[in-house]
Amino acid sequence: MSALLHTPVDEIPQIRETLKKTFRSGKARPLEWRRQQLYQVARMARENEEAFMTAMGKDLGKPRMETWLGEIAGLIERTLKTAEALEEWAKPEHPEVADWQKPWRPTLYKTPKGVVLIIAPWNYPMILSLQPLIGAISAGCPAVVKPSEIAPAYAQLLAELMPKYLDPEAYRVVNGGVMETTKLLELQWDHIFYTGNGRVGRIIAAAAAKHLTPVTLELGGKSPVIIDGECDIKIAAKRLLYGKCTNAGQICVCPDYVLIPEQKQDELVAALKEHCASFFPEGPLNSESFGRIVNGQHYARLMDMLRRTKGTIVLGGKSDGKLAVEPTVIKDVGEGDSLLEEEIFGPLLPIVPVKDLNEAINYVNSKDHPLVIYAFTEKQEVKDRLIAETMSGNLVFNDTFQQLAVNEIPFGGIGESGYGYQIMKYSYDGFTHLRSSIDVPYDYEPHFALRYPPYSEEKRKT
Ligand code: NAD
Repeated sequence: MSALLHTPVDEIPQIRETLKKTFRSGKARPLEWRRQQLYQVARMARENEEAFMTAMGKDLGKPRMETWLGEIAGLIERTLKTAEALEEWAKPEHPEVADWQKPWRPTLYKTPKGVVLIIAPWNYPMILSLQPLIGAISAGCPAVVKPSEIAPAYAQLLAELMPKYLDPEAYRVVNGGVMETTKLLELQWDHIFYTGNGRVGRIIAAAAAKHLTPVTLELGGKSPVIIDGECDIKIAAKRLLYGKCTNAGQICVCPDYVLIPEQKQDELVAALKEHCASFFPEGPLNSESFGRIVNGQHYARLMDMLRRTKGTIVLGGKSDGKLAVEPTVIKDVGEGDSLLEEEIFGPLLPIVPVKDLNEAINYVNSKDHPLVIYAFTEKQEVKDRLIAETMSGNLVFNDTFQQLAVNEIPFGGIGESGYGYQIMKYSYDGFTHLRSSIDVPYDYEPHFALRYPPYSEEKRKT
């Protein structure tokens, strides 16, 4: 596979022009055409499974099983289900209205917003670039996809495959880094869908504001795990470790840190050690089932966090000197620690001992709204308190990561973790304008006598 070829910056305005022309022509609008393009996305993923797995193996050292489960299988399933559901989603809606307005036939038409820009990150390069694309296609919007330059093998493969499967007059890949994205952002789009970190999220939102372009921001942050001391700690530890080890912790919804009653901390550590040994009997650094950190910069960032922690490393802590870092558990981590400063985005798991649930809730509420709050508890009163007293994009009880396996619930952040929603119908909705309409019959004229000037007290009293 060749190195990443950047799209020449001076070609970018022309690419957008082509897509604008296609949108104006109405070509991307018929449902039958959208469905056919969606089937082509599924075909592209299925027929090139091997090439995609190899590319993401190269970019991230992703285990093949993780690529298959987390990137390819889910994408194919969602693409086909979207194609099936399209007819239903796209139907005009007729809301219930007051009897006197019924003759006006109030209707919501589902109109494509226009030409959209999708900017994707490197950690799940395929699903995070193509899932929004499915949304754009289903909504009837031509789209530019800008994959992350930090996953260059995937980005290059996508640029080679997409024109073979999808209509290049409607769907294009632009490859490159800051320079190319900056050029894209100078242009006017009808929606921008960005997935990545909050620093760049602000750049995107500011650029979009110049054109009044609506934006979806799928960001990250520190997603806490609250463990109720009376839950089954062994099962909690297993599900937690699974969430921390998948993609070597480089997931936006990765459990970032744990809050647990102090007297239960050691029991949790023991269970994590046991599960780590059973997940990776040959040791994580020798295991085909454990990925690595994406590049030297992120690796150095993680090792620096670990070096500066005041907590005690009780599991892992080693790296292979290249890019793999063992699943590492650090106990007795307190406020102000290096591991609590920013999103970890790697296989390091700090445990913060707390007195009780109140302290855990207060701690979470003193921070930015996270993308997810995970809680391990079987007590309804604890669940009720977390529902009522905390804020987050998702709230997940007794597992990690699996909220993303449910196609029918929206995924999206709040506050620092972003805004807007995606997945299936929610992706469709994000790229769709609800164009409300009424059609007032001419024979309604006698009912309007009151509204026309000249106004008078007599009229008001009728
Ligand atoms: P990244 O570095 O690949 O950046 C994302 C995109 O932004 C890339 O396409 C990149 O080219 C572009 N970009 C980078 N700098 C830019 C600039 N100055 N101007 C314009 N564009 C620029 O990925 P990342 O941000 O490191 O991704 C990891 C972050 O994304 C984490 O915070 C993670 O939590 C978050 N994330 C969120 C979700 C979600 O769905 N909420 C999913 C995955 C990752």
